[in-house]
This record gives sequence, structure tokens and C-alpha cells, in this order.
Amino acid sequence: MPKLTVVVPAYNESAVLAIFHERLCGVLDTLSLQCDVLYIDDGSTDDTWAIMQSLAAADGRVGVLKLSRNFGKEIALTAGLDHVDADAAVVIDADLQDPPELIPELVLQWQAGFDVVYATRSARAGESGFKRFTAAAFYRTMEMLSDVPVPRDTGDFRLLSRRALKALAQLRERQRFMKGLFAWIGYRQTSIQYLRDPRKAGKTKWNYWRLAQFAIEGITSFSSAPLRLATWTGLAASLVAFLMGLKVLIKALLHSDPVPGYPSLMVVVLFLGGIQLLALGVIGEYLGRNYAESKQRPLYFIEEEHLPGQRVGASNAFHTDATRQR
Ligand code: UDP
Ligand code: MG
Repeated sequence: MPKLTVVVPAYNESAVLAIFHERLCGVLDTLSLQCDVLYIDDGSTDDTWAIMQSLAAADGRVGVLKLSRNFGKEIALTAGLDHVDADAAVVIDADLQDPPELIPELVLQWQAGFDVVYATRSARAGESGFKRFTAAAFYRTMEMLSDVPVPRDTGDFRLLSRRALKALAQLRERQRFMKGLFAWIGYRQTSIQYLRDPRKAGKTKWNYWRLAQFAIEGITSFSSAPLRLATWTGLAASLVAFLMGLKVLIKALLHSDPVPGYPSLMVVVLFLGGIQLLALGVIGEYLGRNYAESKQRPLYFIEEEHLPGQRVGASNAFHTDATRQR
């Protein structure tokens, strides 16, 4: 029987994890696949890890993974996917915003031959108008700038086939914009529509500062358009400067004009100074990312792990094989 692993990253989700597991199991039981679940504790500070361990103790299909600290969802997800050995994996949030009831539909598309099946939100319940607006603006901008099409209104909720997993495992970049990476690997991809539910319990880990950073991450990881924009702005500014220079020169030759006005000089100096700083900032964003990549640090460390089917307590707590290559 083909094997399916459900990968669930969780950070401080003690309020919802048990309910989530119950709903997930209800769905998995209806599938004619060999299913297991892999929970990743992304350095939670509440009792998420204790709950995970009790789930694993009660159910042999549950595997748990504890990262050495909070690395962020993208890395937690990567850690989980690195440890999957199955014919397909489903990635799902622990807060029940992605309905587990959709998994059979994802599986159906996979059985029809697709490698990546993602779920696209047709509505975002329980999110403010402003959040919806910024999310929409972000996806549209990504669409314009990015070299690979990142599907709109699509979170990380999706199914990956074995070869898609294998491809993804080879992308070891530190700046992990997962939505983009999923799209980048290619293969046969398709989507299904769903209504995104509001969070069941607990609260979102995103604030606007983190979202803004996430957006910059996405754009810089998948596009060098901002660098090109700096080049073009610089060219346009030089052209204008050249024309103005000509004008000043001709005026001086023909009319032996006195020194032109201080205000216009000030405006030009400040304007160009601003543009130069902006361009430097853009370059800095890319350079900083380059720096982070060049350090070649492992993506994460694992503090404890019990993979599905393993006896609880049988694992090696010192196991930190973070850069596992397949
Ligand atoms: N998450 C994580 N590490 C983090 C932040 C979030 O593993 O540093 C998990 C979180 O527990 C949840 C999923 O990622 O399962 C989505 O997080 P959240 O609901 O906060 O994001 P949103 O749904 O608002 O995009
Ligand atoms: Mg959520």
C-alpha cells in the first residue's frame, strides 16, 4: 500500500494540537493508504512538546521532532520534509486553518498523476480587510517580479509526491521562501479550491513587521528586479543630469549667467542622495542574503526525534544530522 506522511509544523500550539490530531485522524482513517503523521516542535515555549509526545505514545503512527530552538515555520517545515520517507507528503498547519478534510481530494489529484497539489484559498474568513489587501498586493507583486509563477492565495498546505520531495530536499538555501521553492521545482502541479477557516484557537505568530520581512524575503529570493530597477533609475537620473548640465553650460556661454540658484542645487543634491541610498539599500539586501548563504550553516538542529513507527525513547537525543542529503 502506498505511504502518506502528514507533516505538521507547530510553534506554541498547545491550545489546538489535540483537537487537530483528532480531526486529522478522523480523515486519515478514511483513506486507503498507509498513513502516518510527523509533528515538528519549532522550539515552543508552552507544553506543545509534551502534548506531541503523549500523542506519539498513544499512537504508533505519530512521529515527533523537536528543533533546538525556534527557527521559523519555513525551516520547521524543511526539517519535517527532510525526515519523510513516503510516497507522498502533505504539509498542513496545526491551527486548523487548513481543513484536514481536504486531504482526500489532494490524494485524489496525486493518484491522477500530479506531483504537487496545492490548495488555493477562495476566501479568507476571520482576517481583517487590511490583511486581505496586503496579501493580495503581495501576491500580485510577486507575480510581476518573480521568475517562476508563485500561485496566488496559496499557503503551504499541499501534497508533494516522492520525486517532488526529493527535488525539494536538494534546495538547501538558507533563505527559504517555501511557496516559491515549491513552485520552482516544477513537475506536474495542480490546485484545488477551498475556503480558509479562521484559526480555531491560539493566535497567529505573524505581525505586520514579520509579514513585511517575509515579503522582502520572497521578492529577493526569486527576483533580481529591484537591482535592475536601481540600474534603470540611475540611468534615467544621469540622463536628466546630462541634459541639465548642457543647459547650464549653454546658458553660461551665451549669457555669462551668474551662478544659478541655491534651491535648485539643493533639490537635485538631496534627490540624488536619496536615490543613491535607496539603491545601496537594495544592494545591501541582496548582499546580506549572499553573506548568510556563504556561511553555509546547517538549516536547523534537532534536539529530539522519534520518527513514526519508532518506539518512543529509542531515539538518539544527540542526533543533529541537519544537512542530511538524499
Ligand atoms: N509555525 C512554526 N514556527 C513559527 C511560526 C509558526 O512552526 O515560528 C507554525 C504554526 O504553529 C502553524 C503554522 O506554522 O502550525 C502557521 O502559523 P500561523 O497560523 O501563525 O500563520 P498564519 O496561518 O497566520 O499564516
Ligand atoms: Mg494560521
